[in-house]
Amino acid sequence: MRSEFHIHTLYCDGKNTCEEIVLKALEKGFDAIGFSGHSYTDFDKSYCMSRKNTALYVNDVRELKNKYKDKIRIYCGIEQDIFAPEQNFGPDYIIGSVHYVLKDGIYIPVDESREKLVASVKEYYGGDFYAFADDYFGEVGNVAKITDCDIIGHFDLVSKFNEGYVLFDENDSRYVSLWHDALDELIKAGRIFEVNTGAISRGYRSTPYPREEMLRYIAEKNGTVTITSDCHNAEKLGFAYEEAFELIKRTGTEYVDFAQILASKNI
Ligand SMILES: [Zn+2]
Ligand SMILES: [Zn+2]
Repeated sequence: MRSEFHIHTLYCDGKNTCEEIVLKALEKGFDAIGFSGHSYTDFDKSYCMSRKNTALYVNDVRELKNKYKDKIRIYCGIEQDIFAPEQNFGPDYIIGSVHYVLKDGIYIPVDESREKLVASVKEYYGGDFYAFADDYFGEVGNVAKITDCDIIGHFDLVSKFNEGYVLFDENDSRYVSLWHDALDELIKAGRIFEVNTGAISRGYRSTPYPREEMLRYIAEKNGTVTITSDCHNAEKLGFAYEEAFELIKRTGTEYVDFAQILASKNI
């Protein structure tokens, strides 16, 4: 099965309409796709779906589901931020994500830009990235509980701007123990981790989230993964899937076909 379940459109910060994505998926031979618009957050409207757009999005995807039902399976999901209000439209599935660290009442964006991140860590953590990562992974460890997600979004997003370890050392034992704790929590909750190639397609990283050592740890603890490209542009649908599969094979992680999971639940 060829599928993609992490897709953003013009309703939030993606570049295409839902139908353009469907047509590209058909052209690329996909069997199933799921849209996962960013959940509305009232403290930051720059990237998410407005309340109005959420309703339009749901209608649009449902119409497309029907229109293309003989050609491709289409699902209406959500990428639910831990600080977003719960959805009332009954999404087909949920990707649970942490995009902010809440510190002293301030929502610090984790993935907006390197400049913003460095300035915020300096201002709120005295420049200590390990203290920042501690709060980040503390939140990530709770993402299943808070969002009741099916898939854990970009587990180590905190390392987005850290290619070459320019901000902090990812092999430092302080950092490693933080992600161990968060992974233990989420594996215990039985959630699927996405191997997310989005930051590669946008030029931030050369490897997917989560990093290789994390995948080895997931394998060791019998956790499961699937693959997404966190698509914001139809041209990049399914980007670097082959590399992601290679990585999964190499680390011995168990891959699950999320399309099959939804089909088995009659969704
Ligand atoms: Zn995200
Ligand atoms: Zn996303």
